[in-house]
Amino acid sequence: MNYIHACLLKKRNMLVVKSLTILLLSCIAFKLACCSISSLKSLPLVGHLEFEDVHPASKDFGNRSQLLPLAILHPKSVSDIASVIRHIWMMGPHSQLTVAARGRGHSLQGQAQTSHGIVIHMESLQPQKLQVHSVGSSNPFVDVSGGELWINILHETLKYGLAPKSWTDYLHLTVGGTLSNAGISGQAFRHGPQISNVHQLEVVTGKGEILNCSERENSDLFHGVLGGLGQFGIITKARIALETAPTMVKWMRVLYLDFAAFAKDQERLISSDDKFDYVEGFVIINRTGLLDNWRLSFTPEDPTKASQFKSDGRNLYCLEVAKYFKLDEDKKNVMNQEVKESLSELSYISSTLFSSEKNAKPNGQGKEIHVMNHVNLMFKNRDTL
Ligand SMILES: Cc1cc2nc3c(=O)[nH]c(=O)nc-3n(C[C@H](O)[C@H](O)[C@H](O)COP(=O)(O)OP(=O)(O)OC[C@H]3O[C@@H](n4cnc5c(N)ncnc54)[C@H](O)[C@@H]3O)c2cc1C
Repeated sequence: MNYIHACLLKKRNMLVVKSLTILLLSCIAFKLACCSISSLKSLPLVGHLEFEDVHPASKDFGNRSQLLPLAILHPKSVSDIASVIRHIWMMGPHSQLTVAARGRGHSLQGQAQTSHGIVIHMESLQPQKLQVHSVGSSNPFVDVSGGELWINILHETLKYGLAPKSWTDYLHLTVGGTLSNAGISGQAFRHGPQISNVHQLEVVTGKGEILNCSERENSDLFHGVLGGLGQFGIITKARIALETAPTMVKWMRVLYLDFAAFAKDQERLISSDDKFDYVEGFVIINRTGLLDNWRLSFTPEDPTKASQFKSDGRNLYCLEVAKYFKLDEDKKNVMNQEVKESLSELSYISSTLFSSEKNAKPNGQGKEIHVMNHVNLMFKNRDTL
């Protein structure tokens, strides 16, 4: 046999060995998957594991990452979550099954996905009745499920004249989803993000234990889970800090073309605690019609000047502020004067002051319209800008 033939034979043998190894590994993986599936199927759950229709959990809002899970757990109780996680923990490290909690799937990069693992659909968790604790308390709070939407919490707490201290702009996100990140909106400059306004959590750990945690109890777990992107446990309940909900709000937007001026003004406002109750800034990628969209919700302070303002397609920086006040003519006049003074210290383009006033009166159809609802829901419109 000459040298070339020997080399070719060696190469072919290597190829056969490689193919057999891959086949063997695939068989092991397949067998493990089959074992996993059958052992998971045998778990006594109040909810259920879905093995067929798993595509909905393979996508998220960002639409950039697609990972197909082995199954979706639709838990009906916290013990469903604990049972599945404990079961996977008992399988040991060779099982390679991973778990991801999923709220609304509004992540952008697959944070709530897992390849061939179990996605826990947190909204399926049997919603406990939201329990608002307010009577005689100077520190009111609400106990909620980890799969609860912030919009539902707002509606419920408003019945007691209360609202969570810290928000996201968009409210159709879950408690677990935003507490695993940070949860930021225009109230964060005063109260901190949502993760700074939680008294206590109930968490299912990686071993399947159900633990309570707070600053004082299991504090490592508490601080790990808050902002932990679901890597330290699954949030099944949260105790959220509340405050008295405002009754009226004056809501304003001003525009800048110069980023440095915009940033300077924003810093000035967030470092002074009492000028406004809500401060947020954002960039407007100025496409045709976009600017006009949100103007519809506001009245320009000076309509003539505002109509003359031309952005010429340049990107704009928008400072958004709000001031809460009471429905009383004298108090309103004082508030307007204060707002005027605060605005006079800023260097926005003078023709671009837009404002809007909202009140919290019931709308007569038995539904409460509330300023926080308006502000935070209408901010949602910004996402369409
Ligand atoms: C239109 C839009 C508007 C937004 N507005 C804001 C805003 O104003 N402010 C802001 O801060 N963010 C905002 N976000 C970002 C948003 O807060 C995050 O994407 C958040 O994670 C989405 O929540 P979700 O319920 O969809 O969670 P998912 O995307 O489903 O999950 C997010 C992460 O949390 C984990 N997780 C989910 N539930 C739990 C749980 N119960 N226990 C432990 N871990 C869990 C997941 O595994 C994942 O890692 C916005 C996103 C979108 C798409």
